[in-house]
Amino acid sequence: YKAMLKSKENGGNLYTFYRSSFQIITSENLALQTSLGYALEREELEVYYQPKVSLRTGKIVGAEALLRWNHSQLGIISPARFIPIAEETNLIVPIGEWVLKTACQQTKGWHNAGFSDLRIAVNISARQFNQPDLYSRVYQLLIETGLDPKYLELELTESVLMQNTEVSIVRLTAFKALGVQIAIDDFGTGYSSLSYLQQFPFETLKIDKSFIGKVNSDPKTKLITKNIIQMAHDLKLNLVAEGVETQAELNFLYYNDCDEMQGYLFDKPLNVRDFEERLLAGKSL
Ligand code: C2E
Ligand code: CA
Ligand code: CA
Ligand code: CA
Repeated sequence: YKAMLKSKENGGNLYTFYRSSFQIITSENLALQTSLGYALEREELEVYYQPKVSLRTGKIVGAEALLRWNHSQLGIISPARFIPIAEETNLIVPIGEWVLKTACQQTKGWHNAGFSDLRIAVNISARQFNQPDLYSRVYQLLIETGLDPKYLELELTESVLMQNTEVSIVRLTAFKALGVQIAIDDFGTGYSSLSYLQQFPFETLKIDKSFIGKVNSDPKTKLITKNIIQMAHDLKLNLVAEGVETQAELNFLYYNDCDEMQGYLFDKPLNVRDFEERLLAGKSL
């Protein structure tokens, strides 16, 4: 901070200060960028599935598809690290499409195996959502995989929808007409209110895990979360709590009538084999 103040006085230093740290970050990112470009063809990417559980029945009702990258030298790299790089470089478009296809194919397979009500949620990033042909690509994938559109849910954050509200409304309306579900992800972390979000057609609200983690320690968060659930129900929305880690959090959600939960308390994101094991065992809360 001192260094910044000082350099503000004599101009040039500030630039130097930033440039050097910026370069370190980019050279590291550049290496990741290059290898991310090959990750698809090298089959280093894998889709994991985190169960979503109904609080009424205790049963698995669906899953969220979450991407994993098994880097040949660096091991597993977190999506929090590589998704932003994929966004910057537009690699998110082919990668995101691959996730959609893999997840739809996989879910169709589970339907055929008798788990015929399973829903699949796929994260859609800003770049992907802004592709003019996203709708036709999704439509095409549904036809190719034979998955009934009503079992596919796209997770979008408020900030993505807020970039251009008119375009967002048009896109979401098209998906609604197709029967594809829309969920607002990370709800509560953006700056918008639920009443403002109501201009968009969507079915599901996912309360961000930062709220869930504090419902039992912070009275204000508890009150806000109760109100979000109440308001969502008044608006006939389906409510999902993410990041549920403790029994106390689960109890809170249960008594406040939340619809579904997702979190380490039940399961972390799983590879296909482990997810199928849970399905076959009929694992429930
Ligand atoms: P997200 O969409 O908010 O996904 C939820 C994140 O919370 C996941 O992190 C999940 O593993 C984690 N999580 C689930 N339950 C718990 C819990 O009980 N406690 C805690 N602390 N965390 C929990 P993950 O898998 O590392 O993904 C991070 C983010 O990367 C995702 O956040 C999403 O924004 C992005 N991402 C992941 N896969 C994809 C993808 O296929 N496409 C796009 N566009 N983004 C993706
Ligand atoms: Ca998500
Ligand atoms: Ca989320
Ligand atoms: Ca998130």
